[in-house]
Amino acid sequence: MKYSIATIPGDGIGPDVVKVAVEVLEAIARRFSFELAFAEAPMGGAAIDRFGEPLPASSLALCKKSDAVLLGAVGGPKWDDLPGSKRPEAGLLAIRSGLGVFANLRPAIMFPQLAGACPLKPHLVEGGLDILVVRELTGGIYFGDRGRSPDGLSAWDTERYSVPEIERLLVVAFDAAMERKKRLCVVDKANILESSRLWRETAMAMAPRWPGIELSFMYVDNAAMQLVKNPRQFDVVATSNMFGDILSDEASMVTGSIGMLASASIGGPHAGLYEPIHGSAPDIAGQDVANPLATILSAALLLRHSLKLEPAAKAIEDAVSAVLDSGLRCADIASKTRGGDTPGEKPVGTVAMGAAVVRAVEEAGK
Ligand code: NAD
Repeated sequence: MKYSIATIPGDGIGPDVVKVAVEVLEAIARRFSFELAFAEAPMGGAAIDRFGEPLPASSLALCKKSDAVLLGAVGGPKWDDLPGSKRPEAGLLAIRSGLGVFANLRPAIMFPQLAGACPLKPHLVEGGLDILVVRELTGGIYFGDRGRSPDGLSAWDTERYSVPEIERLLVVAFDAAMERKKRLCVVDKANILESSRLWRETAMAMAPRWPGIELSFMYVDNAAMQLVKNPRQFDVVATSNMFGDILSDEASMVTGSIGMLASASIGGPHAGLYEPIHGSAPDIAGQDVANPLATILSAALLLRHSLKLEPAAKAIEDAVSAVLDSGLRCADIASKTRGGDTPGEKPVGTVAMGAAVVRAVEEAGK
């Protein structure tokens, strides 16, 4: 089989981590005997410099006709003074809505080898953490009617959801829970918000279609507290765009480092979009310091969700785990960075970490 992958290196550390992830994908393709054809789509500051806009039509067209899209990160101080719609980050919203990817999957997984990087007390995360936040991505208050009064002294943003929008997101969440520990928690503010009450009614009406799933509901303020008090109670968390934005960042940080966390945006009629949750990290760009594992793990999600190549996806995750077992640590996950000194850790940069994952993929295939 041959698959086409659009890559969007973007800005800052984006090109470095995407290059490494592509090398890992090439190694996986060799091992599992399928073909990958990569084509680059300029986006973000890099596209502004070359074409004067953050997402040129040709880039979106390339992404739409590909089987999947792998994105690094966009943005940086060079473009910070541009108006909102002309900034690199405008390309992100445009590509998400252009591809129609309404479901954002953010696995917050704590590798047991990195337990020391978790900011929570050890007993709270004993045995590791594995939470999947499923966030609605193309509706709600971020896309609702907004404005200001003529005198500029009041402003509004509108949260509006339709049943079909809620249903299609919850189908992804119920299905994901079926593949995991069969627990789905819908997070809302149903004690106050009418739109949240619609989420609850819709979830309850859908539940009989997934008989094995334990469905629960939690108010978002309580969920924010429970994520740090007892994170292991969660399996799949499904929620609206804004609540998901906030909770997925919180869930990911309880696992340790931003350099480890992957995401998948799926559900549209075109390609799925896969990216690390971190930004372009201008402070460490070009220094061979960035941790490429979040992008490599995003490539695993790409294989799993868009190409349906589960064994290949799992092989990447196993290779990452093997590399962590061997003690290799980029600066962000090194105990030294946190004032500790765990024996057996070996400091590495972006390129060496990527090469180690490639080797682990190849070794496991022998
Ligand atoms: P950031 O995620 O880029 O960086 C936050 C901190 O985490 C920095 O100290 C950085 O060095 C560190 N970090 C990030 N990724 C890392 C990695 N892989 N390895 C090691 N350390 C890592 O967030 P920020 O500083 O708020 O934003 C920087 C730029 O990125 C801004 O222009 C912002 O708009 C943009 N941004 C883009 C995206 C995206 O493309 N999806 C997401 C967030 C921020």
